[in-house]
Amino acid sequence: MSEKQAVQMTCPECGQEAVEPVCVPYTLEVQHEGKTHSVTVPQLKVRRCLACGELIFDGDTNRQVSDAVHEQLQLMSAEDIRKNISVLNMTQKEFAAEIDIAEATISRWLSGAMIQSRQSDRRLRKFFEQRLGMLRKEIGPIARQGDRPTSEEDFKRCWLKAVKVGNEVQPILTSCGTAWGSICYAENAA
Ligand SMILES: [Zn+2]
Repeated sequence: MSEKQAVQMTCPECGQEAVEPVCVPYTLEVQHEGKTHSVTVPQLKVRRCLACGELIFDGDTNRQVSDAVHEQLQLMSAEDIRKNISVLNMTQKEFAAEIDIAEATISRWLSGAMIQSRQSDRRLRKFFEQRLGMLRKEIGPIARQGDRPTSEEDFKRCWLKAVKVGNEVQPILTSCGTAWGSICYAENAA
């Protein structure tokens, strides 16, 4: 029963209840700073109506498209921005105040409703580079084998320890996992 429910959905276009999950190439045109860009998502995971062929978008589909658009325009993705804010242990409000950009604007970037300008993107990157650099210095970790923080609590423990020890180790933001858990520490060769 639950399997049936998983694909039971009404097509908003034709009203038929016959929808299948598919993986298809998808191309769209995006306007950004006065230029039109053609962006292709090679493998969009989306639901498609068996009756009329309409692709039915949801939050996840929109995210896949938004990520592809940002990647092609070489802009930070919403996920990148969100992750960095989280790594810096800031709220959206605090972040907005620090970088001096309206909170509503940041919300629109994060929801994918708006694409940041190239100028704003540079500002974001510069801000994160500086702050993450500071964090890296402050943490200056530790990173002995098996000493990789996997939770916020664990991270704070490592942080405190690192501040005391003052070793210089490079934290690497990986592309998966939670923000806190995604901070791994590579041991310095020295
Ligand atoms: Zn349909």
